[in-house]
Amino acid sequence: MGSQEVTDWQGKHVTVAGLGVSGIPAAKVLRGLGAIVTVVNDGDDERARAQAAELEALGVTVRLGDGATLPEGTELIVTAPGWQPDKPLFTAAAAAGVPVWGDVELAWRLRELDGRKPAPWLAVTGTNGKTTTVQMLASILKAAGLRTAAVGNIGVSLLDAVLGEEEYDVLAVELSSYQLHWAPSLRAHSGAVLNLAPDHLDWHGSMEAYAADKGRIYEGNRIACVYNVADKATEDLVRAADVEEGCRAVGFTLGAPGPSQLGVVDGILVDRAFVENRQKNAQELAEVSDVTPPAPHNIANALAAAALARAFGVPPRAVRDGLRDFTPDAHRIAHVADVDEVAYVDDSKATNTHAAEASLAAYESIVWIAGGLAKGATFDELVARSAKRLRGVVLIGADRALIHEALTRHAPEVPVVDLGRTDTGAMLAAVQEARGLAEPGDTVLLAPACASMDMFANYNKRGDAFAEAVRELGA
Ligand code: ADP
Repeated sequence: MGSQEVTDWQGKHVTVAGLGVSGIPAAKVLRGLGAIVTVVNDGDDERARAQAAELEALGVTVRLGDGATLPEGTELIVTAPGWQPDKPLFTAAAAAGVPVWGDVELAWRLRELDGRKPAPWLAVTGTNGKTTTVQMLASILKAAGLRTAAVGNIGVSLLDAVLGEEEYDVLAVELSSYQLHWAPSLRAHSGAVLNLAPDHLDWHGSMEAYAADKGRIYEGNRIACVYNVADKATEDLVRAADVEEGCRAVGFTLGAPGPSQLGVVDGILVDRAFVENRQKNAQELAEVSDVTPPAPHNIANALAAAALARAFGVPPRAVRDGLRDFTPDAHRIAHVADVDEVAYVDDSKATNTHAAEASLAAYESIVWIAGGLAKGATFDELVARSAKRLRGVVLIGADRALIHEALTRHAPEVPVVDLGRTDTGAMLAAVQEARGLAEPGDTVLLAPACASMDMFANYNKRGDAFAEAVRELGA
């Protein structure tokens, strides 16, 4: 199916896999188009029942407690992105020749519904930095006077953006590797892969499969495939992609840019890709100090956002204004307070080792608060690369021993306080211990390199507990 007509959907048997943030809106939209919709869901709890009742009132059939069986007559499955490809439902679909789309694929296909004029998508993926980059991008596009929104994995439904009343000139789209996996026909105007580190490998099956799904973002790009010069795997994905004639590979780097790159020269973000005569010329875009926080990984995010915006034709001044207007979401390298000349910084969102490493690279002398659920990660590389910056370490959480062992191997001289606790109240003790280790000029950095669910409901709560503990210190 190419561009869609409502008549394509009337009477079509569609199975929506998963009640949830993508499944419920998908079921409603499809029902509204006249499709015969069945929702299947593994869980059967109170919440699911309430959601089911709401959908049933609209004429949707809901099967709770059985997400494995393919409903009779299914012509298409629209799945929640998180559903793993090896689920029996998909095996059955493959055997029956039934296509499977994710929420992004559905939005992509419906964007031209009944002759709508769709906004082009500037798409961002990567292991870390997606949300920040997409928000920076939206801010830059707005500064250029364009009607836009940051949508996708960021929590704003693409279906709403594509089918809603509001008209957009361009969309800044965050895509997860899951969403890309289930979006076979997506063709973004331009795409960026920020970085690639092992993550979600249990879902994808292997690093190769994970990379290949991320690389799908470049398929069919028209203007630019934006990659990270420091992360060769991202450039390899550009090479492997089948793009439109004339689409260019554009790198971003924290060093001086070569031709067809954006980079940094003497504290200035410069563009040598979208300028006349890029062999000789460079265009100043913004200053490093225009980016908040001006940590190296965040400058990289800003360069990627700038590259996508420039690919869309945004003028240099809008890049600067958009970056100046941008403030990061909470718990992403958020400066909480200075107490006794020690800075306390909350990067609770650093839930994997790659993110924590970027965070640690942003400070010279650190008391590091780390630990939580490791999700199968190893910590040797992170610790070895960060050892010289560590004044001390305070460990919390279920898998803290893994970090402790890596510290013993690679940073034996760094003092470590292992709190041996996984209760929520341990954060106060952790901050107090960190204060004892810190010297004036140091940074106490919460960058756990782990998920939070062993001690907290989520990373927000973990960051809040940290901030609360810091406030108690200062009081
Ligand atoms: P995502 O949406 O990919 O999870 P966020 O923008 O929410 O990314 O940032 C998550 C965490 O990743 C941040 O708290 C920070 O520690 C880290 N981070 C952000 N940008 C980068 C980057 N370019 N490289 C490595 N780590 C990063």
